[in-house]
Amino acid sequence: MKKIALLGATGSIGINSVDVATAYPDKFKIVSLTFHSNSEKGAALIEQLKPQYVGVGSEEMRTMLAARFPDVKFGVGEEGLIKAATLEDVDVVLTAVTGSVGLKPTMAAIERGKDIALANKETLVMAGKWVMEAAQKYNVSILPVDSEHSAIFQCLNTQEKGNLKELVITASGGSFRDLNRDELEFVTLEEALKHPNWSMGKKITIDSSTMMNKGLEVIEAHWLFGIDYDRIKVVLHKESIVHSMIVLKDGAYLAQLGPSDMREPIQYALTYPNRLPIKDEKSFDLTKIGQLNFEPMDFERFPMLELAFTVGKKGGGYPTVYNAANEIAANAFLEGKISYLQIEELVLKAVQNYTEANEVTLEEVIEIDKQTRTIVERWIKEEG
Ligand code: NDP
Ligand code: MG
Repeated sequence: MKKIALLGATGSIGINSVDVATAYPDKFKIVSLTFHSNSEKGAALIEQLKPQYVGVGSEEMRTMLAARFPDVKFGVGEEGLIKAATLEDVDVVLTAVTGSVGLKPTMAAIERGKDIALANKETLVMAGKWVMEAAQKYNVSILPVDSEHSAIFQCLNTQEKGNLKELVITASGGSFRDLNRDELEFVTLEEALKHPNWSMGKKITIDSSTMMNKGLEVIEAHWLFGIDYDRIKVVLHKESIVHSMIVLKDGAYLAQLGPSDMREPIQYALTYPNRLPIKDEKSFDLTKIGQLNFEPMDFERFPMLELAFTVGKKGGGYPTVYNAANEIAANAFLEGKISYLQIEELVLKAVQNYTEANEVTLEEVIEIDKQTRTIVERWIKEEG
C-alpha cells in the first residue's frame, strides 16, 4: 500500500490523481491532502477519501471544516502544506499545487525522506539546483508527472541513460498556435482558455499559449535529467500524441506515445518501475489519427521560449524571476487586469530589470521570488 500526500487535490492534476488512486484502493491511499480556496470540492474530497490531515487556505475554512469533520486534523497555509507533505505515514508526495508555493513543502518532504511525484514544475524552475541536491542527499526519487518529462523518463528507463545525446520536447503550440503576432493583440481570455488538446488548470492553459509552459518545461528537464540546455530541443507537434523523445548517440530516436490523458503519467509516477492498466482507458488508435506532424519552433513568434533558454543558461536567480513574473502576469491576465501581450512584456521587463552579482543561495532565491512578485504587481498597478 502506497500512502500519498496530495497537494492541490482540488485542481486538474489533483482530481486526476484522485481518480488514479481510488481506482486501486488496495494499492494506494491518500492519507493527507491540501486545497486552497475551493471548500466545496475540498469537503467532498474529505468525505470521499477520509484523509488523516488536510491543509486549507484560510483560518475560516479550517474552523468551518473542523466542525464538520471532527476526526480530521487541519492546518492552514504554508504550515498546512508542509505538515500534509511530511506526515509520518506518507511515502510519496504528489505536488499538484500551482506556482512557487510548492517549493517549501517539497523541500520539507525530501528532507523527511519522502519520494516526490512532481507535477508542480515551478518548484524545479525556481530551485532545481537545491531540490535535486537534496533529493540526492536524502536518497529520494523525483518522479515526473508532467507528460513530456514522464515520456523522457520512460524512454530513459530502457537503460539508455549513458547513450543520451539530446532530449526533444514536443509542444502542442497552445490556443493561439495558428495566429501570428499581430493577431495576438486582440485575443480574449475566453479564447486563451481553449486549449486544443488538453483540459488543464487555467494558469497552465495560459502558459501553454504564451509558450511559457514549454519554457518552464525546458528548465524542468535541465534539472530533472541533468542535461545541458544546448542538448534540449523543442518541436511543435500539434497532435500531442508523441509526448516527447530522446535521441541517442548513434542517432536512434525513442519516443513515448499515447492519448492526452494525465492519468497515465500520474499513475506511472506512482507505480514506477511497475505498470497497471488505466481504468476506463481513453480510446487510442493511430490508424484513426493517421498523421503525426512536426515543425520547428519559431522563437520570434514565441519569445518566451527563447527567453527560457537565456535565463536557464544564466542560472542563479534568473529562472526564478522569469517564473515569478509570469505567475503574477498570467494571473493578472486571468483577472482581466492586463492584455494578453502584456504577459510577455512584463516577464521580459522583469528579466531585463534583474541583475545578479554573486552566486545566490536558496534563501536568496526565495527572496528574489517575493521581490519579483512585488515589482511586477506594482508595474501592473501603475500601468492600469
Ligand atoms: P489547478 O489550477 O487546476 O489546481 C491548482 C491546485 O493548487 C488547486 O488544488 C488549488 O486549490 C491549489 N492552489 C492554488 N493556489 C494555491 C496556493 N496559493 N496555496 C496552496 N494551494 C494552492 O492547476 P493544475 O492542476 O492544472 O496544475 C497544477 C500543477 O501541475 C502546476 O504546477 C502545473 O504546471 C502542473 N501541471 C499540470 C498539468 C495539467 O494537465 N493540468 C500538466 C502538467 C503539469 P483550490 O482549487 O482550492 O483553489
Ligand atoms: Mg507538460
